[in-house]
Amino acid sequence: MSKNYDCIVLGVGGIGSAAMYYAASQGWRVLGLDRFPIGHASGSSHGQTRIIRQAYFEHPDYVPLLQSTYQLWDDLEKTSGESLFQRTGLLQVGDSQGSIIQGVKASAEEHRLTVREFDNAALRKAFPLFNYRDVDVGVLEENAGFLRVEKCVSAFARAAQSQGADFIDGVTIEGWDRGAAGYEVTTSQGCFRGRRLIIAAGAWANQIMPDLRKRLRVIAKHQHWFRIPDERTQLEKGCPTFFFETEEGYFYGFPDIDGNGTKICEHSGGTPVENPLEINRDIDPLDLERVQHFAHHSLNCPRGIHHDHRVCMYTMSPDEHFMVDLADEQVAFACGLSGHGFKFAPVLGKALVQLLEGTPRADMDFLKLKRFNGDS
Ligand SMILES: Cc1cc2nc3c(=O)[nH]c(=O)nc-3n(C[C@H](O)[C@H](O)[C@H](O)COP(=O)(O)OP(=O)(O)OC[C@H]3O[C@@H](n4cnc5c(N)ncnc54)[C@H](O)[C@@H]3O)c2cc1C
Repeated sequence: MSKNYDCIVLGVGGIGSAAMYYAASQGWRVLGLDRFPIGHASGSSHGQTRIIRQAYFEHPDYVPLLQSTYQLWDDLEKTSGESLFQRTGLLQVGDSQGSIIQGVKASAEEHRLTVREFDNAALRKAFPLFNYRDVDVGVLEENAGFLRVEKCVSAFARAAQSQGADFIDGVTIEGWDRGAAGYEVTTSQGCFRGRRLIIAAGAWANQIMPDLRKRLRVIAKHQHWFRIPDERTQLEKGCPTFFFETEEGYFYGFPDIDGNGTKICEHSGGTPVENPLEINRDIDPLDLERVQHFAHHSLNCPRGIHHDHRVCMYTMSPDEHFMVDLADEQVAFACGLSGHGFKFAPVLGKALVQLLEGTPRADMDFLKLKRFNGDS
């Protein structure tokens, strides 16, 4: 099979679905290829929810991108007619000198974002759903919340298809190369030709882009759901999304949505994954124990019953910042999203198209590979 496209998107998960949409919106003839169907649970974009926030503790340079991404998620909600972004507020708790509180405040100050600060006594009074250490303080970002992750991916894919994009699943991408007139993508279903490529392969990026092999590290992360017999944990009762820095690590959780239970996970840690296709999807008793320990100590409510679990993957870059760049004149990629990339899906998808058009966002320069120049 051989067809010619203006742009082929390699990997149609979180970022690829958005890239497919923005590429198709240019009037380009677009093809998306993936091994799995849209919204699948085998990569990094599944498990009901993803946190979205602007006062970014990881680095203030992400804030302008987050301001764009908020606008683009709102646009997608309008285009799709779906509710994707729930502004529950995000409560972040930790030692006042810890990286979370310090990082949130630095981003908020530099970009004049509104966050409400709580000292220990105010925190206990305002959010009695949680328990706190004496050193804990809190920041509430009211404009933050969560994205319904699978619905977001499906909405982008549908929007792309309504702009004329083709999507083929059940395809294993084996490699790509520069041909006489553009690029050739070799797959289990034959060869596809495109003038441009966008690579958004998530945990498989180092296989599709062997040059990156040394830089990316994939880890398994567990998502747990608990049924907690306390109505204050419910979305409708105003439960915020929450993120805690504790002595044991970073833990976060979401309100109980649609009666599915309260999702609680550990952000820190993780088990190395050699082959993402053979990842162990069983419950890791140690991980569950750590999450239960956090829940029992930090939630001021009756113990929940563990009732669901999903394994997902973080693809870590060396400095835990994204890697977004050109791999060749007309080949753009986003990878190494290091467990915090989903909220950026629209802005990254659009940025990949802008890279190919030769009009890159200057404020994304910090994500280019040149920052590793000099590393072995
Ligand atoms: C448990 C967990 C919690 C997270 N929490 C947050 C959060 O709260 N907020 C946030 O912003 N981010 C969060 N993240 C990170 C975020 O979800 C990811 O950064 C993002 O979803 C990655 O999207 P992606 O498109 O890179 O990968 P994916 O969505 O996995 O897409 C990659 C696609 O490429 C396809 N593919 C790859 N190789 C091939 C091949 N050879 N042939 C065919 N198809 C191929 C795959 O099948 C897949 O569909 C979390 C991640 C996890 C795992």
